[in-house]
Amino acid sequence: MNYIYGPIKSRRLGLSLGLNLSRDKVCDFDCVYCQWGSVGKTFLERKEYASFADIIRELKSWLRDHPREAKELKFVTFSGYGEPTLNTALEDLIDEARKITGSKIAVITNSTLLGDPAVRKSILKADLIVPSLDAVDPESFAKIDRPHPGVKLEEIIEGLVALRREFSGLIWLEVMLVRGINDSPEHILKLKKVIERINPDKIQLNSPVRATAEKNILPVEKEKLEEIRKLFGGKAEII
Ligand code: SF4
Repeated sequence: MNYIYGPIKSRRLGLSLGLNLSRDKVCDFDCVYCQWGSVGKTFLERKEYASFADIIRELKSWLRDHPREAKELKFVTFSGYGEPTLNTALEDLIDEARKITGSKIAVITNSTLLGDPAVRKSILKADLIVPSLDAVDPESFAKIDRPHPGVKLEEIIEGLVALRREFSGLIWLEVMLVRGINDSPEHILKLKKVIERINPDKIQLNSPVRATAEKNILPVEKEKLEEIRKLFGGKAEII
């Protein structure tokens, strides 16, 4: 399978099938903590990195071969190797995946393109959007996410605020915290203010535990993570 991974059973989503929208990693970030490693370049052009036809063909074949799991499927999740909103077929894929699986749709995005109204529109039919926001000052942003030069932090933040206004489904905002990069008390306070503006349904705090793109990327200490969770209030949880 080139585009399908899983299914994965989780407490929150139930049985969820993942869809990659490219065969290799295609992303406009090069995060230091990326579990796929670094490919040494970033992509900002939006196009059909994997075709609608190929992805749907594979999904139909999986459904045919796994009738029992197909019945139990609760979510189809768009994420995978890189950034799904870079694929221009995303909106049609959301419609078709819902139609042929009868499942709910989740989109996991790094938020980089949310400043573009057309990109926001392309994901409005999802049931759950899991956008990420790791940094709100330019230095931490450059250090942790290593964005393509065309990606603008202000557009990410305003895009997230606009998404909240336009999207009636659930938004679970994910924040990846890396020791010594974006976990200073000053940055955490700035982040808190921005997140209050975005007003997500949940704030998911994460810290790298798996292999990362760069060496010496350390998770934030448990006690500190717990303090940050408390500071962020009742919507925050450590995942
Ligand atoms: S946004 Fe996701 S896929 Fe892209 S580099 Fe960061 S962790 Fe990897």
